[in-house]
Amino acid sequence: MTGVPIVVVGAGHAGFHTALFLRDEGVEAPIVLVDGLDGPPVQRPPLSKSMLLGEAEPRLEFRKPEFYAARDITLLHDTVARIDRERHLVRLGSGRALGYRDLVLATGCRARHLTVPGSGRAGICVLRTPHDARAIRDALGRADDVVVVGGGFIGLEAAAAARKRGCTVTVVESLPRLMRRVVSADISDHFRALHEAEGVRVLTDTTVHAFDGDTRVRQVVLADGTRLRADLVVLGIGVDPEVELARDSGLAVGDGIEVDTALRTSDPSISAVGDCSSFPTRDGTRRRFESVQNATDQARVAAARLAGRTVEFDAVPWFWTDQFAAKLQIAGLVPDPEAETETARIGDAADAFSVLHFHNGRLTAVESVNRPSDHAAARRLLAQDTSLRPDDARIPRFRLPGTAALRTG
Ligand SMILES: Cc1cc2nc3c(=O)[nH]c(=O)nc-3n(C[C@H](O)[C@H](O)[C@H](O)COP(=O)(O)OP(=O)(O)OC[C@H]3O[C@@H](n4cnc5c(N)ncnc54)[C@H](O)[C@@H]3O)c2cc1C
Repeated sequence: MTGVPIVVVGAGHAGFHTALFLRDEGVEAPIVLVDGLDGPPVQRPPLSKSMLLGEAEPRLEFRKPEFYAARDITLLHDTVARIDRERHLVRLGSGRALGYRDLVLATGCRARHLTVPGSGRAGICVLRTPHDARAIRDALGRADDVVVVGGGFIGLEAAAAARKRGCTVTVVESLPRLMRRVVSADISDHFRALHEAEGVRVLTDTTVHAFDGDTRVRQVVLADGTRLRADLVVLGIGVDPEVELARDSGLAVGDGIEVDTALRTSDPSISAVGDCSSFPTRDGTRRRFESVQNATDQARVAAARLAGRTVEFDAVPWFWTDQFAAKLQIAGLVPDPEAETETARIGDAADAFSVLHFHNGRLTAVESVNRPSDHAAARRLLAQDTSLRPDDARIPRFRLPGTAALRTG
């Protein structure tokens, strides 16, 4: 194909899917997907789950290398160093210049590091890339004592994997409860009890003061002076959006690259999708999500707009995490604990239930533990702006519309 290409910067979930959906939309312009990756584009969720178990390596590539040639998508193993907005071109790390018709920034996030004394010692790892995950997987084979700093999704998945591999595991979380940013107190409590039942020590309201040792980390020193033995430390303390490229080229940037509801940045020929994009919501605030759903749905909207369709991003957010035998799936956004909310619980089993959240009488989120059909139904209901009320959900044996009948006896 000839002509000026659509250039997509970053070949993670958002960038890969933008290229894929552009072709699905029938866009005929050349598409160039630029990323400094070694091989074909890869997904990240297995990196903190099956990858760490040390068994057969999970398949990470979205597609085999030959897929890209077949769909006429050029994969460039390079980085974008600069955007020249006036001349509609990007400068690559290799020195080459590449013109663009439209530019899509899908630059994702980078893992945060702790800056405390000793944080440069060997054996202190973050978990973002396949390279990070392979290093942690291999270190788990040699480690006895593992300290995970951060009790969010990634930290807790890593803690569960380390425990399954026979390590002594301590999770250190600075907030009063686990996964505080995204789940309700009920779900935090459930997962704390699950980890403790599996032998993980969980310390909340606790911060790290320093890492002690020699060339390698040997101990984690907590703010109260407690010392925890550690041959491996996994940091799961969050990520920061990759916004430097956008900021240096004068685009509007806050907590992420700011876009409108059609995912256009402050320059209409540049879009931003996925973990790096900060988008406006119905309530007038801006949000940035770090999830596969968000990356894929934003890629779909950006591709449709670049194909000439009028579209807006307004997808129901959903998330999941796997820890020990529990799959937690969340549809919608769990209201802030300070907001006036009502909840209803479905399911009597201790290890399989859903919590419904209502704000101003309207369903806003459903957290499901080992109840995938509730999660699927919740996503449909939330997309339809449901009329379900808290009292409806409290009747005995209530089922979300669309879920299979419960078997009894
Ligand atoms: C270990 C782990 C487990 C996860 N598990 C889950 C899960 O269970 N469920 C879920 O929903 N989400 C999960 N996530 C989050 C999910 O993977 C991300 O939300 C998703 O990858 C975001 O896609 P993205 O394309 O926006 O960013 P990324 O996947 O981060 O991709 C961005 C890409 O841009 C490239 N890039 C950046 N700057 C440049 C540049 N200047 N030039 C060229 N290339 C550049 C980077 O190399 C990178 O490949 C997990 C994330 C991690 C790290």
